[in-house]
Amino acid sequence: MTHDHRPFDRSPVATILIVEDSPDNMKLFRTLLTLRKHEVIALTSGEGLLQAVGQNRPALVLMDIQLPGKDGYALLKELRQSEHKSVRVVALTAHAMSGDREKAINAGFDGYITKPIDIRAFPDQISRALDGEMVTT
Ligand code: MN
Repeated sequence: MTHDHRPFDRSPVATILIVEDSPDNMKLFRTLLTLRKHEVIALTSGEGLLQAVGQNRPALVLMDIQLPGKDGYALLKELRQSEHKSVRVVALTAHAMSGDREKAINAGFDGYITKPIDIRAFPDQISRALDGEMVTT
């Protein structure tokens, strides 16, 4: 794996909306992204997602696939059929569910990040996703 050693001060600061039902994962994501000065909006399910996107206008949505209620695929579809269809959405896929990777790209996600995440690489993966790169791990 290659690591991007982009200087900190060149990283864009952005509003990032995270949909993730695991409190431990959310805490980790929030900590890592807040260290890079990003603003994190947290949802534990897809409930209120469209409203949250409309209110906060995130530059990026990080979408867990396995969620209570509607899953990440269903929520992506809702976003793509909404007025927020152009928002960048990166899937968070569980390592055990390896089939989710290809499925995520085919479904129209703008990339996927496999959990458990690489803590050291994650902030730069997010920066690259914010730059418009299709990040896959
Ligand atoms: Mn989950």
